[in-house]
Amino acid sequence: MVRVRFAPSPTGPLHIGGVRTALYNYLFARQQGGKMILRIEDTDQTRFVPGAEQYIIEALDWLGIQFDEGVHIGGPYGPYRQSDRKPMYRQYADQLIRDGWAYYAFDRPEALEAKRKEYEAEKKTFQYDCNTRSQMENSLSLGMEEAQRRIDAGDPYVVRFKFPEGIDITVHDLIRGDVTMNSRLLDDKVLFKSDGMPTYHLANIVDDHTMEITHVIRGEEWLPSAPLHVMLYKAFGWEDTMPQFAHLPLLLKPEGNGKLSKRDGDRLGFPVFPLEWHDPKSGEISSGYREKGYLPQAVVNMLALLGWNPGTEQEIMSMDELIKLFNIEHISKNGAKFNLDKAKWFNHEYFQKLGDEEVASYLEAQLKEHGISAEHDYVVKVAGMMKERITFPSELWETCCYFFQAPTEYNEKDVAKRWTPDMHIHMQKVIDILNTVPFEHDAIHKALLDDYIAANGLNTGKVMNSLRIAVVGRTVGPDMITLVLTIGKEETIRRVERAIEKIKIEK
Ligand code: GLU
Repeated sequence: MVRVRFAPSPTGPLHIGGVRTALYNYLFARQQGGKMILRIEDTDQTRFVPGAEQYIIEALDWLGIQFDEGVHIGGPYGPYRQSDRKPMYRQYADQLIRDGWAYYAFDRPEALEAKRKEYEAEKKTFQYDCNTRSQMENSLSLGMEEAQRRIDAGDPYVVRFKFPEGIDITVHDLIRGDVTMNSRLLDDKVLFKSDGMPTYHLANIVDDHTMEITHVIRGEEWLPSAPLHVMLYKAFGWEDTMPQFAHLPLLLKPEGNGKLSKRDGDRLGFPVFPLEWHDPKSGEISSGYREKGYLPQAVVNMLALLGWNPGTEQEIMSMDELIKLFNIEHISKNGAKFNLDKAKWFNHEYFQKLGDEEVASYLEAQLKEHGISAEHDYVVKVAGMMKERITFPSELWETCCYFFQAPTEYNEKDVAKRWTPDMHIHMQKVIDILNTVPFEHDAIHKALLDDYIAANGLNTGKVMNSLRIAVVGRTVGPDMITLVLTIGKEETIRRVERAIEKIKIEK
C-alpha cells in the first residue's frame, strides 16, 4: 500500500514550489490507490509563524489536493503535528546513543562561533564532523561518565549523529538514480536539541517510519540531507522498510538562473503563493493566484507540467487525467523555468471551459459593483459571447461594459482617424436603415454594407468603425452587426444619435 506525505514546515505561506511537491505526491498517491498524508513539521519553534498551517490547508483545499490523513482530519497514525508528537522522539535519540550512532555535545554557541572564526582566519570552513569532533566538548572527547555528570548537573546539550568515517553512502533516487556521497563530507548533524525537541532530521525519519511512509517525494533542496536520512534508517535497523526517495527539480526564475523566489514575483508581477498572504509580523501583503483571478484547475495544470510531462504533446489535463497519466519516470532532473505567459495561457484555456452561467456570475458581481442591474439572460448571452477575450475574471467589466451602458466619451484617436466630417450623414443613414429593414443580421448586412456603403463607394472600415465609436466609444468589440443585434435597435439608435450630436459639436 503506497503511503506518501506532504510535510511542510509552518514558517510562512506555502510557495508554489511547495504546492507542486504536494501535487506530485497527491497524483502519485491517487494513481497508486494509496494514501496521502499531511504532516506539519514544526520542530523549529523559532521559525513558527501563526496562521501558516491554516494557510497551507486552505491553499491545498482550494486547489483540490485532498488528504486521507492529516493534521486537519486526523487518522490512525496521528498525531500529525510534530510538536504534538514531542514525547515520542526522545527514546529514539537515546537508542542511537546507546547503539553508538550518536553522542552528546555540550559546546556552547559561543564556543562553536569561536571555532568557526578560527577556521575562517585560515580560510577554511569549520564543520562538526569525524575530523573535528575530538577537539570539541562531547561525550566522545570527554567520556561517557563526564558527559553523564554534566547532564545530571543540568548542563545544556544536544545529540549529534556520529557519521562513520570514510564510507560511501548511496541514496537511490527514483528520478536521479544512485547518488553517492562520502561520509567525510558530511557533518554530524544535530538530531535532538537542548529544548527537548528533535530536529527536522530525527523527527522526519521517525515519523516516516512510524507512519509507514513508502515514498518520500520532496524538493531537491533535501537531497544533501538524504545520505544522513539513509544512515538513520540503517542506524535504527529500519532499512527493510526505508521509503523510496524522489527529489523534485527546482522551480527556476523565468530567466532560468536560480531558484524562483518571492522577489522574482514582486519584480515581474506574478504571484509565487497560491493565496494572498498577510504577514502577521510585518503586515506585508503578498499576492496570491486565487486573488489574482487564476482558476485552481489552471494552476494545477500549469504546476503539473513544471518538471513533468506526459510523454506526449498534450498540455491541457484535468486533475483526473493527470492522476491517470502521472509517472515518476517522466519527472525531469533539470530545473523547470517558471513562465508567466504560459500561466496566463492556462488560465485563459480553463476560463473558456467555464459554462456561460458561471462566467455570467462573475460578470453579475462586477455589474453590481458598478450599480448596474441587467436581465440575467442578457448577462449570460454577453458572457458567452465575450469570454474568449478573457484571461482573468476581473477583465470582464472592462471588456463588456458597453453592453450595459452607453459610452460617455469617445476615444480621441479613434475619432480623429475614422470620423470624417461627412460621417454624420452616414450615421444618420445607419439610423434610417435600422428603422426600416428587419432587425436581423442578413438584412442589416445587405442594407448597410452592400446597398449603402459599397453602392456609394464608401470606405467600409471608416463607416463601420465610426458606428463602433458611436456604440462602444472606441474601436474595440465583437462583430459590429452582432453587437448591434445584442444591444438592441432602440439602444443602438439612441447611441448613434448621441454620437452625431456630440462628435459634431466637438469637431
Ligand atoms: N519539513 C520539510 C519542508 O519544509 C519537509 C521535507 C521532507 O519532505 O522531508 O520542506
